[in-house]
Amino acid sequence: MKADPIRYRHLQGKPEGITDTTPRFGFHLASLQAVDKIRSRFARHPSVIKRSMIFIGTVNLTRTRDQGNFLCPACGVSQGYRLRATRAWLTVYFIPTIPVSNHEPFVQCDHCKANWDPSVLEMDHLHYSDVAEEQFGEEAVRAAVLVVLADNQITENEINSLQAIASYLMRRPVGRDELGQVCSSARQHRIEPVNYVLTVSRPWNQKQRLRALQAMFLAAAADGPLGQLQIEILASMQELFDLTDAEYHRAIEQAVEWSSDG
Ligand SMILES: [Zn+2]
Repeated sequence: MKADPIRYRHLQGKPEGITDTTPRFGFHLASLQAVDKIRSRFARHPSVIKRSMIFIGTVNLTRTRDQGNFLCPACGVSQGYRLRATRAWLTVYFIPTIPVSNHEPFVQCDHCKANWDPSVLEMDHLHYSDVAEEQFGEEAVRAAVLVVLADNQITENEINSLQAIASYLMRRPVGRDELGQVCSSARQHRIEPVNYVLTVSRPWNQKQRLRALQAMFLAAAADGPLGQLQIEILASMQELFDLTDAEYHRAIEQAVEWSSDG
């Protein structure tokens, strides 16, 4: 009778979620120490102990244990991650049999595939999210300014409204001068609001997208009912942000409530 790897695969079962099964045939110190264990474990199977030589090696198996979002230091923005763990297993006839090392966890960015120590999930989280939030604020203010300037004019109401929106988004008072600079640079570059948002909004998360949409809506509504051009711009934003009609209307309702709260 010959040893039948398939049989042992069946007996041992295969750990779930294994993705890296590249065998490593170097002898591990721990694997030598484990040989006796294996022998006694397989003593119940006469087919194995009849053979004078047993193929033993190690294999590193990696499995995903958790996932979520984190601020990837390499990407500089929020990305999905997978918390993965690698563990060395002793193989007998190339089949992972018993673990010979502890789990070694690491975090992998879904976007750039860089690996990080799990402490990256807590490390400087605040700092990165502040930077991301500040950049988002500037971009959303500029988007609102571009919506207002789309009809090539800006009224006193619109300026006041933009100032309130900018202070809200930037979480600090934004003066008229600072706002004036954003307006004049936006005027010079003459970028369509939709094209601008298309370029900058990729790292925005869903909450930020909704806030930017609300800012654009409030800026557009500063002078009363929206004009046809502004309705079209906001409709393009809905499409760009991939929002359902229900999500879009809820966001607008919230914005109205927010502005009536002052
Ligand atoms: Zn990354």
